[in-house]
Amino acid sequence: MRMILLGPPGAGKGTQAANLSMALKVPHISTGDIFRANIKEGTPLGVLAKSFIDAGKLVPDDVTIGIVELRLAQEDCKNGFIMDGFPRTIVQAEMFEKMLAKQHTGVKLVANIFVPDELIIKRMSGRRMCTCGRTYHIENNLPKVEGICDACGKPLYIRDDDREETVIQRLKTYDEQTSPLVEYYRREGLLKDFDGTKPIQVTTQEILDEMK
Ligand code: ADP
Ligand code: ADP
Ligand code: ZN
Repeated sequence: MRMILLGPPGAGKGTQAANLSMALKVPHISTGDIFRANIKEGTPLGVLAKSFIDAGKLVPDDVTIGIVELRLAQEDCKNGFIMDGFPRTIVQAEMFEKMLAKQHTGVKLVANIFVPDELIIKRMSGRRMCTCGRTYHIENNLPKVEGICDACGKPLYIRDDDREETVIQRLKTYDEQTSPLVEYYRREGLLKDFDGTKPIQVTTQEILDEMK
């Protein structure tokens, strides 16, 4: 089960990836989560990534491709993965295809989650994150206990880059560098569109139905 989740920031990629990973029993790989874990630990990768992330820009392709290659080499990716937030540029997509071709495999589905910009700003300002990869929202997707992750019990936090001015820059970055991937994967016949404004579980089920 090799799947890519594509969509602007706040479309619900992380939320869907967590559900799909559970249902399909393949790992959820988020390049954003890997960068944030490195920032927290203060690694050289984290220091480098933070300067781009806080500016709402993309981390350079060679750095990003390098971390994905390392992650894919791990044992748990043997039967597949849910890629959340990678690839984000045409160069990344081309390198990813080559990486998978070396293993005589490829992506089965690119789920393109669509959400209008006005909704995105609202979603990001209410987003709460857990270091385990779960994502919540103060109105739409509450944890059972306020401020605490249902899955692992750790305290939730607000991302530095979810400030409105950074979100606006991230949407611009998406339009310029990531949105061309929609046509790229459509031409390859891999892309399916999903309405990200529907309730979370409805979209999860629609994606699962498409995988059958
Ligand atoms: P969101 O899910 O809200 O779009 P992510 O957690 O996927 O955010 O990514 C956060 C930030 O990490 C991005 O704004 C970008 O700076 C960086 N990043 C994540 N994935 C990539 C990637 N594939 N290429 C370059 N930068 C990335
Ligand atoms: P992405 O990874 O694409 O940036 P997230 O999965 O982090 O997006 O979702 C962004 C915010 O919107 C989170 O606070 C999440 O709880 C909320 N959210 C995700 N999907 C939905 C949905 N279908 N309806 C309402 N809120 C949602
Ligand atoms: Zn958690």
